[in-house]
Amino acid sequence: MYKVYLKSGKEESLKRFHPWIFSGAISHIDGEPEEGEVVEVYTAKKEFIATGHFQIGSIAVRVLSFRQEPINHDFWKRKLAIAYDMRRSIGIATHPSNNTYRLVHGEGDNLPGLVIDIYAKTAVMQAHSAGMHLNRMDIAEALSEVMGDRIENIYYKSETTLPFKADLFPENGFLKGGSNENIALEYGLKFHVDWLKGQKTGFFVDQRENRALLERYAKDRSVLNMFCYTGGFSFYAMRGGARLVHSVDSSAKAIELTNQNVELNFPGDPRHQAFAEDAFKYLDRMGDQYDLIILDPPAFAKHKDALRNALQGYRKLNAKAFEKIRPGGILFTFSCSQVVTKENFRTAVFTAAAMSGRSVRILHQLTQPADHPVNIYHPEGEYLKGLVLYVE
Ligand code: SAH
Repeated sequence: MYKVYLKSGKEESLKRFHPWIFSGAISHIDGEPEEGEVVEVYTAKKEFIATGHFQIGSIAVRVLSFRQEPINHDFWKRKLAIAYDMRRSIGIATHPSNNTYRLVHGEGDNLPGLVIDIYAKTAVMQAHSAGMHLNRMDIAEALSEVMGDRIENIYYKSETTLPFKADLFPENGFLKGGSNENIALEYGLKFHVDWLKGQKTGFFVDQRENRALLERYAKDRSVLNMFCYTGGFSFYAMRGGARLVHSVDSSAKAIELTNQNVELNFPGDPRHQAFAEDAFKYLDRMGDQYDLIILDPPAFAKHKDALRNALQGYRKLNAKAFEKIRPGGILFTFSCSQVVTKENFRTAVFTAAAMSGRSVRILHQLTQPADHPVNIYHPEGEYLKGLVLYVE
């Protein structure tokens, strides 16, 4: 077993169960682990403190366990069972009209670098670290055992999520089964999930509860769902009794999926129209017909250096909505950038509101749902932020 020794005093964050070890904290390593291999971590006093996946980069080890234990089949099975039991105990994995949820949320489930989303009988597994990639077959086997016949297919989708410098050349494909049946149910609404080519694991599972909230505000409103992707918010608005729903995304493929999903749920419903167009162009040319607007842009900042530009992006985007939304309108506005804090985001939206000069009240402060839990020792895991605003 490779042994990583920390510099004196660098074990403090690990004592508080933070799951990352930065390369600067390391004094020396016994042996030459390859990226993704399992290593044991010791303090300068040679006391065991953690086991984890070794990485090349600023995060050098992602902790799998604070116990000295083998990372084997039993380990994966136990961790996945804990994750599944949690989803069952909070009712999300047993909901009668929902079969779409996140089973494993990386650090939030003490499995840094691993994401597993469930869509009906298919699990989509995504590795964000070389270690999880190397262990993918073990994980898939353990997943099969834990889920039993509730899962028939396991699709591995990591071509775009692994550190490219690691030269792993992952290939997307089924590790188990191989069904093309791809319709999942979210609170009674049907969605085609494009796990083969779609973004993330094929769907944005993390907006489920926020979509359900939107449904309550949609009655008789004219809705703009900006950055609609596969149309998630639009169908909840339609079910909630919206007067009209316009879905906009710059990706033609996303608009095609949105239209397919409308047909699945509300065939021939004339209230819905979808437009493949750039958000800023659309917001500039649109009129003032909307009194419920959703802004759910992609992460504007993926890295800390991009923070300033990202905040400017959020400010500009929200300013356009404040300028045009009808009096008495409701704005659902989000940021999914991990590096943008709740305070950063609120300041950007506040500035946009002030520019419009309108009276704005916060009705709800939104975040990610319970199946995307935040490990209390890893506050960085809180990434989704949203505000529901009433604009006078
Ligand atoms: N609200 C969606 C998820 C949005 S993901 C849901 O509930 O599922 C962000 C989306 O923004 C992607 O579909 C992407 O194609 C789109 N996008 C990115 N840049 C854009 C731009 N400049 N204008 C419009 N859409 C854009």
